[in-house]
Amino acid sequence: MIIIKTDEEIAILREGGKRLARVLNAVKEKVAPGVSTKELDLYAEKLIRDLGDTPAFLNYRPAGVKKPYPASLCVSVNDEVVHGIPKKEKILEEGDIVSIDLGLNHKGLFTDMAMTVPVGKISASSEKLLKITEQALEVGINAVQVGGRVGDIGFAIESFAKSKGKYGIVEILAGHGVGRAIHEDPFVPNFGKAGTGALLQKNMVIAIEPMLNMGTKNVTLDKDQYTYRTADGKRSAHFEHTILITENGAEILTK
Ligand code: MG
Repeated sequence: MIIIKTDEEIAILREGGKRLARVLNAVKEKVAPGVSTKELDLYAEKLIRDLGDTPAFLNYRPAGVKKPYPASLCVSVNDEVVHGIPKKEKILEEGDIVSIDLGLNHKGLFTDMAMTVPVGKISASSEKLLKITEQALEVGINAVQVGGRVGDIGFAIESFAKSKGKYGIVEILAGHGVGRAIHEDPFVPNFGKAGTGALLQKNMVIAIEPMLNMGTKNVTLDKDQYTYRTADGKRSAHFEHTILITENGAEILTK
């Protein structure tokens, strides 16, 4: 069921989104060679708690998964696509790319945001992957309008990514409604047909999150039941914003 947010909820989500963007950008500044992925997680959690808010992913248990997610931040390095579990012994190295994905609960309402960050100096091809994926998010956001369809977003992202090279567009993971829960309807795929799918309505809140791979679109799931990685071991990037649908198109809440 798609939930249309009330004005009161929107005010809270706007504040939550602003806070989340501030926290995630601060975590981004910590990314450097020699830093462990667990350090990033603990820093994210501390910043969220200092604000009086709650990390949304910590102890979240997706349907069908045995163990709840053990951290606040998802940290996915190189061929890891999303939902990488932070570890003390996992140390970032010069040339890596690292996706940081964070959810925040402010006054009972959720926002969601992600970005992929270079670790020191990265290769030109990695730089391009990050740039194209970030632009794909922008293109998806710009496709949002009241009266449009969810398929318009996926179509825009897919067309853009295909025009920029042979990138694999991850299909089994997607954006989603967000707000009262971290994952709500509708499912917002990063590919599709314009004019199809759920209707985009005023005061819906959704997370748009393209994941682009340097090679195949296929991904595998690790034994930990969380970490998705590319099937061919090539790198992957991920950018995400939570947006509000308004009469004037999308308003980015996580900025
Ligand atoms: Mg998300």
